[in-house]
Amino acid sequence: MRQIREYCGIFGMFNSENAAQQIYLGLHALQHRGQESAGIVTSVYDEAKGKKVMPIHKGHGLVLDVFKDTTLFESKLLGTAGIGHNRYSTSGSSDNPANIQPFLVHYRDGNLALGHNGNISNAKEIRRTFIERGTLFQSTADSELILHLIAQSTRRKQVDKISDAVSQLEGAFSLVILTDTSLIALRDPNGFKPLAIGKIEQPGKSPAYCVASETCAFDLIGATYVRDVEPGEMIVINQEGIEKGKFESYSLARNNGISQCVFEYVYFSRPDSKIFGEMVDKVRRKMGKELAHDAPVPTVGPDDPRPIVISVPDSSNTATLGYVTESKKLGQPCRYEIGLIRNHYVGRTFIAPGQSSREQKVRSKFNTVEGVLKDRVVVMVDDSIVRGTTAKQLVQMVRKAGAKEVHFRSASPPVISPCFYGMDFPSHAELFYNQFEGDLKKMEEWLGVDSLAYLSVDGLHRAVQAANDSSHGYCDACFSNNYPVPVDMAVTKEENDW
Ligand code: AMP
Repeated sequence: MRQIREYCGIFGMFNSENAAQQIYLGLHALQHRGQESAGIVTSVYDEAKGKKVMPIHKGHGLVLDVFKDTTLFESKLLGTAGIGHNRYSTSGSSDNPANIQPFLVHYRDGNLALGHNGNISNAKEIRRTFIERGTLFQSTADSELILHLIAQSTRRKQVDKISDAVSQLEGAFSLVILTDTSLIALRDPNGFKPLAIGKIEQPGKSPAYCVASETCAFDLIGATYVRDVEPGEMIVINQEGIEKGKFESYSLARNNGISQCVFEYVYFSRPDSKIFGEMVDKVRRKMGKELAHDAPVPTVGPDDPRPIVISVPDSSNTATLGYVTESKKLGQPCRYEIGLIRNHYVGRTFIAPGQSSREQKVRSKFNTVEGVLKDRVVVMVDDSIVRGTTAKQLVQMVRKAGAKEVHFRSASPPVISPCFYGMDFPSHAELFYNQFEGDLKKMEEWLGVDSLAYLSVDGLHRAVQAANDSSHGYCDACFSNNYPVPVDMAVTKEENDW
């Protein structure tokens, strides 16, 4: 069975008359975190049944498509609390509608819905134990295991059941959980994935609270950022807490220290979001500045035109700005130009199954601006090189547009190891750097570039620390091969091989 990567966007809302619409807008703002499926579940009192129920709507596709019928917000997704989920697009078993989140179950404590972002590294063992006990599964997603663990916990209080359940998990899990009385938000003890709390003042009423993977979701609904859910913290947002202006906060047992995913800053999160306590824009600019030191623009003769620096839009725009500013400061003349135009209606390139369609997708996603590139020394900056597909295709296109020289710069270090905590990377052997065993000459030859250079791992850490002085540590396993939480490489390597 191919493992499903839960690289997703999650959102929760409590105490708002427009809960479902706001979750919809929040998910729309988080669309970059997952384009494969979307879902919303709310909690409402059903007069006829005399109890709380949880209406749910979910499907494959973008948020705007799944919720095309906006009457759903007035007719079905009622109530003042709810959660939503976007799932990242992968291949294989992700086609199964049973895997679309949020998951909803009814158990002895009432209704329970869950949205999960991350990858549980001991999922196989947990699943095996359940199967031996005869537990039936509806999906192939790790996230369903969490529901079983909660339902089968022998603890009495619901929050204790949840903390008991998550204490058995290893790996990455930021969760939003909806119960009949509360919205619960938690981050795994390592804090791999981001999760922030926001607030909306409501004149004449107590405020509404929301939680989101990234703060860009708050901006769209007029919520203000309160703080992050801390690594290893479980927050319970309920009516009592809102009246008191204070929420119950529980600490989950910690054993591996804090290791927030540095790739969120490199690529995944939006620059207009604050994650792990700092704006992504600020951190990415610093990465670009460090790159200018580690991988300078090529020198040209005094009478030659200045090299132009172009970004691979959109994910490397911000790092490229930092790179150009710092290069100029260092006395290396260059000019920022827009040489590649991105078609926004194509999904993320990385996900196309099979190499040739991946290449086709790069070409349908980007086009060159010939007038900008012709006869110029071009420095192309991308946030990362994973398989090398994007870089190779773009170099060919830029050359075809008449560039005199093409120099490639990666605003992150070489990706040398797969991610077992939720980032959708291919196997060790498929990674570009490993295919050439780090031989720079061979890599340059294959890409067809005049030079290739990367940000160093030290440079990356300097950038993250300079922008964000929080004492929290980062997971850089994809760049360093140091996995903060043990992973079963023998098993997961094979599963990663897609
Ligand atoms: P590749 O073409 O395989 O070398 O992938 C690198 C390109 O994909 C870069 O342009 C990145 O912006 C983007 N990228 C990096 N990591 C991911 C990821 N986990 N999912 C989707 N795209 C990614």
